[in-house]
Amino acid sequence: MTNKYDYIVIGGGSGGIASARKAASFGVKVLLVEGKHIGGTCVNVGCVPKKIMWNTAELAESIHDASDYGFNVEYKNFDLKKLKGDRDAFIEKLHGIYEKNLKGSGVERINGFAEFVNEKEIEVNGEKYTADHILISTGGYPVIPDLPGSEFGITSDGVFNLEKIPAKVAIVGAGYIAVEFAGILQNLGSKVTCIIRKDRMLKEFDKDIQNFLFEELVNSGIEIMPNTEVLAVEKNDKGLLTIKTKDGKSFSEYDALIWAVGRNPNVKNLKLEKANVKLDEKEHIIVNEYQNTTTKGIYAVGDVTGKKGLTPVAIAAGRRLSRRLFNKETELKLDYTNIPSVVFSHPPIGTVGFTEERAIEKYKAENLKTYKTVFTNMYHAVTKRKTKTMMKLVTLKPEEKIIGIQIIGIGADEMLQGFSVAVKMGATKKDFDETVAIHPTAAEELVTLS
Ligand SMILES: Cc1cc2nc3c(=O)[nH]c(=O)nc-3n(C[C@H](O)[C@H](O)[C@H](O)COP(=O)(O)OP(=O)(O)OC[C@H]3O[C@@H](n4cnc5c(N)ncnc54)[C@H](O)[C@@H]3O)c2cc1C
Repeated sequence: MTNKYDYIVIGGGSGGIASARKAASFGVKVLLVEGKHIGGTCVNVGCVPKKIMWNTAELAESIHDASDYGFNVEYKNFDLKKLKGDRDAFIEKLHGIYEKNLKGSGVERINGFAEFVNEKEIEVNGEKYTADHILISTGGYPVIPDLPGSEFGITSDGVFNLEKIPAKVAIVGAGYIAVEFAGILQNLGSKVTCIIRKDRMLKEFDKDIQNFLFEELVNSGIEIMPNTEVLAVEKNDKGLLTIKTKDGKSFSEYDALIWAVGRNPNVKNLKLEKANVKLDEKEHIIVNEYQNTTTKGIYAVGDVTGKKGLTPVAIAAGRRLSRRLFNKETELKLDYTNIPSVVFSHPPIGTVGFTEERAIEKYKAENLKTYKTVFTNMYHAVTKRKTKTMMKLVTLKPEEKIIGIQIIGIGADEMLQGFSVAVKMGATKKDFDETVAIHPTAAEELVTLS
């Protein structure tokens, strides 16, 4: 017998939970299928444990700077096992909250991996379920490259299993996950080497951000190996790793190697061919602006679509989809422009809208005016350790509409959300100029740039 629902959601991560609960709020019968842990990547092996680790690394920095502020404190040791226990307990608590909220919303939930039987039917643990509307929100997984010895490395998932900070760690990759782990582990006592294919990290980001980040990483003691590609990894009888590179170099005595070379969409186990759902060349599910796949009645949101892999994006797309399908908001869709994002580096990076390079490509340099400042945050007034702050406004003439904000520096993470509202609303440089500054803050620089 086939169980009948109005809406089936495959994947109980950020996008799936949000969409399922929103749909249920309109009174439709919803089934959520999750193969592993409720909450998906963000809760279990992404944003949440990462942010706890970033907070920990920030604390390590503060302890380091505390003596410059007159405190008599010493950084003696750091117990990752203890922190991991508390972090895991927090995540367990979140699982409970998610389960309770799903139940409270009237969403039915089953454990297991779903696969398609046809365009309207899925199978989970040998049982069949059908619905007129099916959402795929199965997220992604971290890639391990196919190289000799690559199995000796771990991915971001494995980092959250560590109970001891590795003395010497190599991180391969130049994306935000590599940057974030490099800062976290270096601050917590590892000697970090970043192995990157090009000469800078965060290649899609503003060039100034890339250059300032590079400087900050090096200043913090991180070793960066630019223009370097890994060929093979070897493990000796003491368990230490040697990394061999394509240009014939060899880096040895690493306790850990982290592959941060990208994420692939979770599509392999879905039997999508049975539902005629098509993939792009990177195996992301093809969707249009309404999150419709190539098959009527089947939709996809979040990382599996390869569009802006961020939790709030998956949530926003999932909720809008449910409102469109079940609340008669027939034209509703997510606007993917001006989505703010933060990299939890040390110091953090905040970015919304156009980078200077993209703006020039689209509008040409003569139609733009860019405002930029570089300064040292007042936090460092009495510290020996210094980090720089760089802020940039990209504006479009003639009215100098703000089309991009780029920040690297202390507080960028918390600063950006409010400013991105202004960008979304179409603020101009004049609007910023007419806003009275808050003193003394770093954020005030954004409204006093000239
Ligand atoms: C280390 C790291 C740090 C990150 N930090 C941030 C951050 O700071 N801020 C931010 O916004 N984003 C961050 N992200 C990205 C964020 O986690 C993802 O964008 C977000 O989780 C995507 O949500 P989703 O719903 O698309 O998929 P997921 O959250 O990945 O959920 C997909 C779920 O589907 C399940 N699933 C897969 N196949 C099946 C199947 N066949 N049947 C049933 N269930 C299935 C999986 O088990 C999983 O639980 C981070 C990611 C990583 C890896």
